[in-house]
Amino acid sequence: MKRLLLLLAMTLTITSLIGQEKPIGIVIHGGAGYMNQANLSEAEIEAYEKKLNDALSIGYTILLEGGTSEEAIVAAIKTLEDSPLFNAGKGSVLCNEEIAEMDASIMLGKTLNAGAVAGVQLTKNPITAAQIVMTKSPHVILSGKGADEFAKKSGLAMEKPAYFITEQNLERIKLLKSEDKSEVEPTLPIDKRKNGINDLKFGTVGAVALDQNGDLAAGTSSGGMANKKNNRIGDSPIIGAGTYANNQSCAVSCTGHGEYFIRLAVAHEVSALMIHRRWDLDKAASYVIHQELENLGGKGGLIAMDRQGNVSMPFNTSSMFRAVKTNQGLSEVSIFK
Ligand code: ASP
Repeated sequence: MKRLLLLLAMTLTITSLIGQEKPIGIVIHGGAGYMNQANLSEAEIEAYEKKLNDALSIGYTILLEGGTSEEAIVAAIKTLEDSPLFNAGKGSVLCNEEIAEMDASIMLGKTLNAGAVAGVQLTKNPITAAQIVMTKSPHVILSGKGADEFAKKSGLAMEKPAYFITEQNLERIKLLKSEDKSEVEPTLPIDKRKNGINDLKFGTVGAVALDQNGDLAAGTSSGGMANKKNNRIGDSPIIGAGTYANNQSCAVSCTGHGEYFIRLAVAHEVSALMIHRRWDLDKAASYVIHQELENLGGKGGLIAMDRQGNVSMPFNTSSMFRAVKTNQGLSEVSIFK
């Protein structure tokens, strides 16, 4: 009997210790779009899933080891920027002048500190440039040449414009230009186009995370929209549109047709609905994507996380590259609905 009671006491202690474990977790995305099993081969699916998994593990390990949510999201986003599979860093889609002009931003939920770069052409990892704008300058957004120069002076890795350009994106921009089409104003229903996977996805990357201190962070990095006008700025570097984090509500990173995300201030809208209407994370995130964005005619999705480690990943396209890992039992890498 005594033994039984002891066993019961031990079980209760362990259970309550597990129950008290502070929630930590990371969610990443690699863009929303119209990928389906018919236009994505098994090998492509495997490659995308592997890279998402790599980025997720790198970020999650940092959190497990007591690193900050800022460190976790930057490491995860850098991994995706370095992969030509995604529309960020190497592999960015090209603007009308056939160069990569990249946008990125980061925000911390504890301090509301934020940093962003728009239209950088030479910084190897635009997310790290956004990070140093936040930490080493008095500003929130730097653009173009000045942003690249600041990154270079701060000792960040730089590359030649050719580094960012993939064969596939070069073919794609030539095709879009020859047909006088852009993804900003598609002339064919996007899911009917037959120009391959790269014509069917937005491909921006992003991450949100919650660390052991209970602090949230969000970051997004993008080459923007293929065949965009030179110097066009999307939602990804706009704090409140493509990225937002606030410890009072949630961390959000978006992907999709940026012009719509800017006009709805999508990322901030999710946070505002949680704070002012006291909605839970999933209700707020789903409402913004499936009601507000949908009603305006915009397409895309977002990933979001709150301080309890709850996760929401709504999208109104047919697919979104996404992955999540938390110590509350969530572990998933998915592409399709
Ligand atoms: N949101 C990005 C932009 O409009 C595109 C994307 O998500 O891929 O620049």
